[in-house]
Amino acid sequence: MTRRSILSLLPAGALAARAEQGERLRGRLRSAGAELIFEGPNGPVALSGDADSLRVMRDPRLRNDEFELNGHTPAAGRFSIDPIHTRAIFVWRKGRRLVVTYWCAVCAIRAWTPGKCQCCQEEMDLDPRDPSLKETDPSD
Ligand SMILES: [Zn+2]
Repeated sequence: MTRRSILSLLPAGALAARAEQGERLRGRLRSAGAELIFEGPNGPVALSGDADSLRVMRDPRLRNDEFELNGHTPAAGRFSIDPIHTRAIFVWRKGRRLVVTYWCAVCAIRAWTPGKCQCCQEEMDLDPRDPSLKETDPSD
C-alpha cells in the first residue's frame, strides 16, 4: 500500500473504530434507588439504558461486583448503557472480564436478563461467563 492510500483511508477508519468501540465505564454501583448511581473513575454518574439492561444492573446478586459497561455519555454526569442485545454488561471476577448471563440448567436455556426461565418458569441462575463462549456453549 502506498503512503498516499494509507493517508486517505485513515480518517474514515478512525471514525468507524470510534463509533464501534463506544466508551467503557468501569466501576461499582453506589446506589440503586429511583435512579441507578454508578461510581466510575471520574465520580458518580446516573445510569440509563433499556429496561432489560437496567434489570441486570438492579440484580441484587451483582450488588458487590465491579462492572464494566459499554455505552456512551449523553451528558455530563450520565452514562447510557448500550442495548441489551449488544451484550454490554460485564463484571470483573478474579481478574477476568465476564459477560453477565442467566442460565437454566434444567432446560439448558440462556438469557440476558434476570427472571424466570421461559420454559420451566423457575428462576434462572446468574451465570457470568467468558464472553468468547458461544451462547450455546456450556459454562466453564
Ligand atoms: Zn428452565
